[in-house]
Amino acid sequence: MSLDKLRTNPEIIKASVHHIKSENIDQEAKSVIDQLNRAGFDAYIVGGFVRDSILGLKPKDCDVVTNAKPEEIKTAVKRTRIIGRRFKIVHARTGRKITEISTFRSSSKKNIKKSQKGILLRDNNFGNIEDDAFRRDFTINSLYLDTKNMEVIDFVGGYEDLQNKVLRSIGESHERFREDPVRILRAIRFKSKLDLSLESNLEKNVSRLSHLLKEISSGRKYEETLKMLLSGNSQSIMSEMQRYNVTEYLLPVTQGYLNSKKDRRFIFNALKNTDKRFQQNKTLTPSFLFSVLLWPALINKTGDLNSKKVKISKISRNANLILKHHNEFCFIPNRIQKSIKETWEMQIMLLKIPEKYKITLKHPRFRAAYDFLLLREKSGENLGGAGAWWTKKISS
Ligand code: ATP
Ligand code: MG
Repeated sequence: MSLDKLRTNPEIIKASVHHIKSENIDQEAKSVIDQLNRAGFDAYIVGGFVRDSILGLKPKDCDVVTNAKPEEIKTAVKRTRIIGRRFKIVHARTGRKITEISTFRSSSKKNIKKSQKGILLRDNNFGNIEDDAFRRDFTINSLYLDTKNMEVIDFVGGYEDLQNKVLRSIGESHERFREDPVRILRAIRFKSKLDLSLESNLEKNVSRLSHLLKEISSGRKYEETLKMLLSGNSQSIMSEMQRYNVTEYLLPVTQGYLNSKKDRRFIFNALKNTDKRFQQNKTLTPSFLFSVLLWPALINKTGDLNSKKVKISKISRNANLILKHHNEFCFIPNRIQKSIKETWEMQIMLLKIPEKYKITLKHPRFRAAYDFLLLREKSGENLGGAGAWWTKKISS
């Protein structure tokens, strides 16, 4: 069906066809929708939950969308907070869990503020559900689940694309990427995560327009890099990031080392571990990830760190230089930088055995530093058996 026709006459997919189970919807999202409905508003689940559930995958979270404006959501739903400037959204908190609630938006040209380069600076231009469906990034992310009757509403042909495992931009991808270059990274992420093929124009534009990522703030690039590499399929995402030329904008310090056999082995060993930990529901920390990604640069500057004689002050100095360079592109928050430096400095402390072992063992970053040391050994470094020594020590 043509898109124009779908806009006025959306496809409705019944529960018996899409098989999303009501019991899989978070209680928190159900309660948010219930509160909005009781205040007289419409509310749906949209995005990742609907997409992943249809594919039979376990969704990360439930995003709620409604015709209530942020202030109205705040009145209708308990324990909420309005966040964001570019896009005002509302967070509803239940214990430690946060449910994101957004208001239907329209991509109509008025009231949208763009930079000279066409980047969306502000978009609090509200609309109805049809408008909202067309301002989303990809068709598969624009499916609305009506929890009252468990029907999925599709204005953009996303259900069919999902069946065919195709990622398709809503509107011209070159325009959509100019408005918000982060969509380039989202395309790469969804491709890897969901094993999709990119529609041919989208495929071309992802690498052709990767330079637009220069326009994104270094803080947002950091957040997106984490989403890509701490999502359980970091090995394939890293390879795709290289293929689509985005590493130079996100990981400029790491980029050159990805082509060295030794460094690549180290980084991919770590990513493999990360993916395995993700599957096992173990914690994944940004500091460990970046300790790995920036390690080859540290070694290049400092020389091998395989002797207890190496001065820790030298590591600190070089660490600061490397982090400074990296932060220009992809800004790591200060407390994470501190943990990265500690993990690196501890690599020397871990070699001071047995003499200093009690102090090292008590250090709050001991576990991360020890895991890091094991990873180095696994990737071929000779550290005189330090890993085995510590393994024995902590298991005795
Ligand atoms: P995930 O499983 O990672 O949460 P998601 O698709 O739900 O995937 P979110 O970042 O939670 O991603 O966003 C929710 C929805 O908001 C998306 O599905 C999409 O419809 C819309 N969206 C998010 N980011 C953008 C963007 N940069 N441009 C347009 N639409 C977006
Ligand atoms: Mg989501």
